[in-house]
Amino acid sequence: VSRGEIIDGKGMAAEIRLELKEKTETLVQQGVRPGLAVVLVGEDSASQTYVRGKIKACNEVGVYSELIQLPEDTSEKALLARIDQLNQDQSIHGILVQLPLPAQISPDRVIAAIDPEKDVDGFHPIQAGRLLTGLDAYLPCTPHGILRMLKRSGIALEGKHAVVVGRSNIVGKPVSLLLQRENATVTMCHSRTRELSSYTRQADILVAAVGRYHMIGAEHVKEGAVVIDVGMNRSPEGKLAGDVDFEAVRPLVSHITPVPGGVGPMTIAMLLYNTVQSAQRVASLT
Ligand code: NDP
Repeated sequence: VSRGEIIDGKGMAAEIRLELKEKTETLVQQGVRPGLAVVLVGEDSASQTYVRGKIKACNEVGVYSELIQLPEDTSEKALLARIDQLNQDQSIHGILVQLPLPAQISPDRVIAAIDPEKDVDGFHPIQAGRLLTGLDAYLPCTPHGILRMLKRSGIALEGKHAVVVGRSNIVGKPVSLLLQRENATVTMCHSRTRELSSYTRQADILVAAVGRYHMIGAEHVKEGAVVIDVGMNRSPEGKLAGDVDFEAVRPLVSHITPVPGGVGPMTIAMLLYNTVQSAQRVASLT
């Protein structure tokens, strides 16, 4: 039995980027270069960092990228008009609007305005509905990345008890669905859950997707569990850190993802995966 094995998301993401680079080269030979538009409204510094990472990954794989930076005071109408242009733009196969958006813009209306076929984040209600009902869909990037990490680490899911802490539309809910689809038995916990540790201690697979520094400690895990840490928080010293107290939990568990270097890079790799998939669909139609 392995002990405290680190799931190397960074390394796995690099491997996936290499695979995608080959696919991209094939597509370019067929006359289609996959293209991703990244829309950033305002000056949020965390968002700027994420967006830079996404553009850099595109360049590495040979995916064309377009960064659309709009001022903080952009109106919803202006943003919707820009999205409409991107929907029509044949060089763009994926559209990503970086969240959060400034208060004057409704993220729901913006997401609904993206052509579902270009919704490589998988946030459009059509994509979410496809996922829920078991149809082909763009899988949301973070949940998809988590699934890939588990599979590449040889972790069996069938019949296992997976406990997911967090029920957001972008992480908690879809990762629960994907784990269930892999025949795990899934428990979803959230801010109103009573005695959280009584659930998390039963987990064979524990996914922490809350956004609270070190909220999962040694008392929350079962010996030999697999722990996936989605959280991106700042430690009191200002360092990037997850929801899991890595040092305290690692000796108890069989596998654990680090922050940074775990779920984050895999999320970006899956964004490229969806963009390449979208371009492949277009190539097969022409
Ligand atoms: P949200 O804030 O949308 O959701 C947080 C969830 O945690 C909610 O469902 C909330 O419950 C639950 N929660 C809050 N407090 C508690 C508590 N005390 N006990 C149990 N559950 C609680 O966050 P996201 O899902 O968007 O993101 C979660 C974290 O993951 C963040 O740190 C974010 O930065 C990170 N993240 C990382 C990504 C990556 O690529 N690595 C990608 C996306 C997110 P309720 O529903 O009841 O309010």
